[in-house]
Amino acid sequence: MNGPVASTIGVPLVDLAVQHAQIAEEVAAGFREVMASSAYIDGEEVHAFEREFAAFSGGGFCVGVANGTDALELLLRSQELPEGAEVLLPTNSFVATAEAVVRAGLRPVLTDCTDDHLLSGDTMGDRLTGATGAVIAVHLFGQQADMGSIAARLAGTGIAVFEDAAQAQGATRAGCGVGQQSAGAATSFYPGKNLGAYGDAGAVVTPDEGRADRIRCLGNHGSAAKYVHTAVGVNSRLDTLQAVVLRAKLRRLATWNDERRRAARLYETLLADVGEVRTPRTLPGNEHVWHLYVVEVDDRDHVLEELHRAGIGAGVHYPTPIHLQPGWGHLGHRRGEFPVAERHASRILSLPMFPGITDDQIGAVVSALKDAVSR
Ligand SMILES: *Cc1c(COP(=O)(O)O)cnc(C)c1O
Repeated sequence: MNGPVASTIGVPLVDLAVQHAQIAEEVAAGFREVMASSAYIDGEEVHAFEREFAAFSGGGFCVGVANGTDALELLLRSQELPEGAEVLLPTNSFVATAEAVVRAGLRPVLTDCTDDHLLSGDTMGDRLTGATGAVIAVHLFGQQADMGSIAARLAGTGIAVFEDAAQAQGATRAGCGVGQQSAGAATSFYPGKNLGAYGDAGAVVTPDEGRADRIRCLGNHGSAAKYVHTAVGVNSRLDTLQAVVLRAKLRRLATWNDERRRAARLYETLLADVGEVRTPRTLPGNEHVWHLYVVEVDDRDHVLEELHRAGIGAGVHYPTPIHLQPGWGHLGHRRGEFPVAERHASRILSLPMFPGITDDQIGAVVSALKDAVSR
């Protein structure tokens, strides 16, 4: 090879070991206590975490559940919509958002997204009908959707607004955290999320105590009092051991989100003069938590391959919008129906992003990316 030698340090998309190193002792001590008490389900750590996570989000009530998909499903079920009511969601989400709608006995209605990958009052367009019962704003990649434009579009309709905040723990809009400007937010503590458990876990945050009680009841076999089942529920609870991990991580989440913001600023600076790469925009009024740092490039698959060859763990979130997934053909969509989401799907590229990522690692990613787009 001629010319300067490309970077030789490999960089993973996500490195969870950095976080674990900081909480390892706390978690081990917490696990020992839980094991000594045998309170594996519904232990004190779960209640403490729920209080702390609600406070971290800006207030309201938190209910821990088994994963983020369940959180969305139970949030929708808590609305008690008529069976088959329509629920709007952007087609460029993770498929779980649509799955939750189906599992709640409702009908997913997909919409296109903005240039910033989000739902807005405009992107809902003519997808609202007399049968629309709710919309789900997905705070994709770590920033909140424009909740004001969504509320304005729905004013006077009685349609409920929910948030899929799986990628947005700590994100604020006009100073408001997730679950503060809607009927409720569902979040996921899948290990790779900004706040990740050591397995599956999730939660709902809602300003409405009655809704929180309904969700807790539904997720506990429809039971608020032992052996009395007032609804056909499911088993979806947050394990005490996961709550130990989540409490330890929550204490550091603001710092870790700051580290992600610092990394995003460095990417922005280093990529500012690289015309082939479109860097992500933060909406005015938003505090972004950079779950993913997603750029856009031409010839994405080629660039992705080159990055992988250089040892850079770039990814794509997500390569196929829900309306074009083979398992979702029954929704009856065709290619071309959601042009913005479809264009993004062929151009987006997620660069390595995690708390503790070093300047050298970011430098290596940028240098490999510059090589890849110029080749
Ligand atoms: C991770 C994720 C989910 C699902 O969460 P699980 O805990 O894996 O069930 C839902 N929506 C979005 C946008 C996600 O990123």
